[in-house]
Amino acid sequence: MSFTFYNTLGREKQIFKPLKEGKVGFYGCGPTVYNYAHIGNLRAYVLHDILVRSLRRAGYEVNHVMNITDVGHLSGDNDEGDDKMVKSAEERGKSVLEIAEFYTRAFFNDTDRMNITRPTVVCKATEHISEMIAMIVRIEKNGFTYSAGGNLYFDISRFPSYGELALLRPDDLKSGAQTGYERTGQDENKRNAGDFVLWFTKSKFENQALMWDSPWGRGYPGWHIECSAMSMKYLGENFDIHAGGIDHIPVHHTNEIAQSEASMDAAGKKPWVSYWLHNEFLVIDKAKMSKSAGGFLTLQSLIDEGYDPLDYRYFLLGGHYRSQLQFSFDSLKGAKNSRISLIDKVLSLAQKTNFNRREANKESREFAITGNDVLKYIEAFNKALEDDLSTPRAMAEIWGLLREGPATEEALAAVFDMDRVLALGLEETCMAKASENGKDSGNNELTDEIEQQIIRRAEAKKAKDFATADNIRQNLKERGIILEDGPGGTTWRRA
Ligand code: AMP
Ligand code: ZN
Repeated sequence: MSFTFYNTLGREKQIFKPLKEGKVGFYGCGPTVYNYAHIGNLRAYVLHDILVRSLRRAGYEVNHVMNITDVGHLSGDNDEGDDKMVKSAEERGKSVLEIAEFYTRAFFNDTDRMNITRPTVVCKATEHISEMIAMIVRIEKNGFTYSAGGNLYFDISRFPSYGELALLRPDDLKSGAQTGYERTGQDENKRNAGDFVLWFTKSKFENQALMWDSPWGRGYPGWHIECSAMSMKYLGENFDIHAGGIDHIPVHHTNEIAQSEASMDAAGKKPWVSYWLHNEFLVIDKAKMSKSAGGFLTLQSLIDEGYDPLDYRYFLLGGHYRSQLQFSFDSLKGAKNSRISLIDKVLSLAQKTNFNRREANKESREFAITGNDVLKYIEAFNKALEDDLSTPRAMAEIWGLLREGPATEEALAAVFDMDRVLALGLEETCMAKASENGKDSGNNELTDEIEQQIIRRAEAKKAKDFATADNIRQNLKERGIILEDGPGGTTWRRA
């Protein structure tokens, strides 16, 4: 398969070519664990999952790295506002680490329930402070920093292509209006409005719970540096794909690029990541869902309304990741109904192809699909994913196959193959159904056995061996089976 991705860096679809053949290094920005993920955040992780699953299904070996932000993220991405972790810990009367642990677990509980594959590497910011310090030292050596008011800043005017990702103009940079964020206060120490903190020492956060020694004094890292330091640690200086929500384009990813490239080269001209993928927002009533704005929906709140986590996954797959997606309970209900009919169709195909009887002892039902009546759907499905991960078109193909394709084993195998990316649990559902049927046939075995006992008892009675006959009746009674003698012979019922 040959993928084309829309690269935010360049604003065009580009043919995907990894740095190392057959291997992909992918970094997806992870959650700041000060609260539950809202369903908008989960949209970002479903994109990461679709990307990883599509690449793996195409045969790539994917190293997927994700950070957990447990320090340094302020409510304004540009170093302004409160520290999200500290504020949450204070509000809840817990330590920052307790808060981080609690919401990290909650995060993975949500992503597991949505069949989102866990990253190969999950790395916590607080466990990588030395890597961040080492990187800041390199940036400093290359001449991109200054200290002011006790903090160490990145000087964006020294970096030649600052703002390229976000298409920022030099005039915008001067005024500080460029970054798309709302300014909530002015940091007098900054030489340029877009400069950002690499290391905080003496700052407005004297109550910061977690601090570390550094060449610039005891303090803690700015938010952006963690992604640069950890991605490079696990993926090497250069890697293939970096992803996040579109809100990360103007500040977080712009700053990640500047500091990473500044750390590699004094001229700041050595490129870092090849492809930048950004998901559009999930919106409710045209407003972006956000954690800091309060009043947001979690996966659990959907479950409490009677939805399955996979209903929400199905809903998300119905929109292309680069289009805004409007959430409403009506559309979620639509997704739920469609998912149920999809499952019905798959189960009926499974039944027609005798999946029930076949499945039990087979480790893998993968086999080459050769029939063109099925192959054409697989090919169209692949084309949809190859074209910038078009899940809506991919969904149309699985539906097409189920509605119009043949009722054959190959078709079922193709459905399961497609579901390696869609991850709607279709094969598991068929397995569960098969084992339910298996239990029924277990009941048949029970029936056979009781019938045998009834015959043995009748023979014993005929031979006037009443002790054996009574024994049989008594043993069955102890197992909850009652025998009743009638004019038509002996019947049985459960006690
Ligand atoms: P955070 O935990 O705030 O760092 O956000 C985690 C991820 O969710 C980031 O990639 C954000 O860009 C993304 N994100 C935040 N809000 C939304 C939204 N309403 N819709 C889609 N993605 C979002
Ligand atoms: Zn990041």
